[in-house]
Amino acid sequence: MPTSSTDHAGTILTQDRAHVWHPYASTTTPGPLYVVQSAAGTRLTLDDGTTTHHVVDAMASWWCMIHGYRHPALDQALHDQVDQFSHVMFGGLTHAAGVALAQDLVDITPAPLNRVFLADSGSVAVEVALKLARQLQLTRAARRHVHGPDGSSRRAGGTRIAALRGGYHGDTLAAMSVCDPDGGMHAAFADSIPAQIFLPRPPAFDADHTHVTDWTDQARQILHTHRDDLAAVIVEPILQGAGGMWSWSPLALRALRDLTDEYELLLIADEIATGFGRTGRFFACEWADITPDILIVGKAMTGGYLTQAAVIARDEIAAEIGHGPFGALMHGPTFMANPLASAVSRASITLLRDGHWQDDVRRVGDVLRRELTGPDTPTSLDSPLVEDVRIIGASVAVALTHPVDMTLATRVAVDHGVWLRPFRNLVYAMPPYISSDDDLTTIARGIRAVVAAHEEHTR
Ligand SMILES: *Cc1c(COP(=O)(O)O)cnc(C)c1O
Repeated sequence: MPTSSTDHAGTILTQDRAHVWHPYASTTTPGPLYVVQSAAGTRLTLDDGTTTHHVVDAMASWWCMIHGYRHPALDQALHDQVDQFSHVMFGGLTHAAGVALAQDLVDITPAPLNRVFLADSGSVAVEVALKLARQLQLTRAARRHVHGPDGSSRRAGGTRIAALRGGYHGDTLAAMSVCDPDGGMHAAFADSIPAQIFLPRPPAFDADHTHVTDWTDQARQILHTHRDDLAAVIVEPILQGAGGMWSWSPLALRALRDLTDEYELLLIADEIATGFGRTGRFFACEWADITPDILIVGKAMTGGYLTQAAVIARDEIAAEIGHGPFGALMHGPTFMANPLASAVSRASITLLRDGHWQDDVRRVGDVLRRELTGPDTPTSLDSPLVEDVRIIGASVAVALTHPVDMTLATRVAVDHGVWLRPFRNLVYAMPPYISSDDDLTTIARGIRAVVAAHEEHTR
């Protein structure tokens, strides 16, 4: 018999269906939808209008909620900031929360990265980084033109960007242009996104030297061919997320750093998904022991509480643009450096600095590996439907040979007490770092159940 809370959920669902758009979803043939009644720690309480479901969150709300829901320190940071002020414009004004966050970001990133732009979402931060690269190259071109020894006109600096196949960098038009050209549905937007240059997907995390050398040769060839047109190379270091959950070789990343130096291109590391520990290093660039010219962070920066991202660049880049024909970096979102987001980001960074995220991330990976690939693995993951199981840090991706049936997968996972949100052929988990061994066992059971349900379906 429906309780009053499920009745209420039913009303919300009806209103939602009538008026609301959901991400990457059709309004006319929508998938299953649940009302969140509460969220605490690693657990969500969901309601589908008839039944209440208590589930373990395997997604950390799209990889953000690394400390879990309703963390007392994060809640407190927001209360404290609300008691001061919630927002002021950042043009001509500044405030303690924003400045202190910038200082924290400079402290936790390698020394040359010391100029911070606080953006309001990951995609916007990618736009800012791409604009920065373009403005820098045009500035250099103009200066060379002005100071050219023979007074002759020189070609302008390149403005195109090289990106990796298999990548994802956001949903706005310029960010989309550097996403994987097939997965990013470039064909639908071909007339409105700039044409970029793509390098092949790099070899796997543990690839041997020969594979890395072959890939590096191909990458060099492409960069060499387009050297006059390019401004920068953008990558998701070590783990490509929403473009297909591909982990890739630190040796290849090191080689790419060398190539970008050789051709005087900026290396932009998009660590929106990988930053703040997800891969087992604080920043994924550390796997290759390299420093990018521009580092982008987002998602987990606020501990998942609010939307905020940051572009952290070498100060020489800012100075060069400052002295050039543009002077300013041409960007300024309304909610730039929002004090609430800045305060909660600081609190999240403090939790990481003072806590044992490294042990937690290792444990999450170890338990998921044991449960999904260990010797005692229940047979369903030996399924002919499973192409690959990829684990790095606190992330696991099970690649199926077919696209996942989202409706089936969602229902089966919820029935097994897990919130999963597969995409394409991938059933994956990126849970909060604080997930207990029990939570992780439940998540693994949910993943196995989803695979088993697909097996039954194809039989
Ligand atoms: C999520 C993501 C983005 C986009 O961030 P939004 O906040 O969703 O705009 C960009 N790059 C990477 C690597 C991401 O994972």
